[in-house]
Amino acid sequence: MKLRTFKTEDVSGKRVIVRVDFNVPVKDGKVTDDNRIRAHASTISKLLAAGAKVALVSHFGRPKGKPVPEMSLSHVIPDVEKAYGAKVKFVDDCVSPKVREELDSMPQGGIMLLENVRFYDEEQKNDLEFAKKLAAPFEIFVMDAFSASHRADSSTSAIMTLLPSFAGDVLAREAEMLGAVSSTDAKKPYVLILGGAKVSDKIAVIENLMKKTSKILIGGGMAYTFLKAQGFTIGSSLCDSEKLDFARAMLENAKRSGVEVLLPVDNVVAPAFDTKSKGETNIIEGNIPDGLMGLDIGPKTCELFRKAIVDARTVLWNGPMGVFENPVFADGSIAVGKAVAECTASGGTTVVGGGDTAAAVIQFGLDDKMSHVSTGGGASLEFCEGKELPGMKPLKTA
Ligand code: ADP
Ligand code: MG
Repeated sequence: MKLRTFKTEDVSGKRVIVRVDFNVPVKDGKVTDDNRIRAHASTISKLLAAGAKVALVSHFGRPKGKPVPEMSLSHVIPDVEKAYGAKVKFVDDCVSPKVREELDSMPQGGIMLLENVRFYDEEQKNDLEFAKKLAAPFEIFVMDAFSASHRADSSTSAIMTLLPSFAGDVLAREAEMLGAVSSTDAKKPYVLILGGAKVSDKIAVIENLMKKTSKILIGGGMAYTFLKAQGFTIGSSLCDSEKLDFARAMLENAKRSGVEVLLPVDNVVAPAFDTKSKGETNIIEGNIPDGLMGLDIGPKTCELFRKAIVDARTVLWNGPMGVFENPVFADGSIAVGKAVAECTASGGTTVVGGGDTAAAVIQFGLDDKMSHVSTGGGASLEFCEGKELPGMKPLKTA
């Protein structure tokens, strides 16, 4: 999917407001992970190099429409200055007359950061009057907050009806890569890897993508609902009892459509999530007895999945294969991550979506071995479900 992006002449010398996502984790007033800030560096540096006057607008936390000092974006100033190599002027209210005054006195190629846009109740109501106040001092809007693009807010949606609008590099890349794996032209074999906790979270993705895929591999907590639907006992593993019928119908449907579904053939089982060592786990093929739960895919499944993944030309991975937060149950996700990396190395297009899956891939140090790791949890899921994202739709060109 292609979005309208800006050229130098579109923004040169202009007053540009950029919607970014600076909703970063902060502890004791310090940013603990600046990935989200650094992600926008390429968009920002292009704007600055073009001589634009740049103002950054973002949400931060959930202040519920009122100023909350702990949720002031002033906390991120040092990290923003470091990431973009530029001095940043902070304006403590995103819609005050000060914004215009500061813009007047700021040189071309200057940069300012506006206070948390969610200090106003109107923001999350996609209020047009509020968007007008936000847009008033500016000539151009650049949308770069992919992870907020599934929400219709004043700063992600209404503002685009008021200013000539363009996609920044983050948004454009997400649209391109998620678009590539959601398209009917996705190169085959196309392997969709699903995992994570709940079947219900992934139903819409399955329904949207099934016919475009060649194989669907199911691991993680959601696999046990499918195994139970096939008649296996699953002990105390996660089970979405209300989705057993869906699981049966989906398996039938896949068969009719010529899509192969691979389920775990062995599982790492233990009595509890917080099992402390591998010595307390067992690998079981087939039925899981009472009192034990499947918390990761087993070694035979890793090999089965690996074979399917390495030959793929397109891979989308959404949902970890086990409770990877506990190192005892991380092996399945690591094995699948390595197989996806192998696929990338041999020319496949590989995309990781979903907040926890992206965190897992980063934790394993495999993120730079994927074609793309999506920066938006909810937004990437909604994209893969085939929904139009309000922060992206008006920018689509093809
Ligand atoms: P994403 O955020 O990538 O979409 P999900 O939120 O759907 O992924 O799922 C992630 C969660 O699924 C993780 O917290 C992980 O611990 C959990 N999970 C994975 N496998 C299992 C399992 N076998 N039993 C219980 N929980 C699991
Ligand atoms: Mg999640």
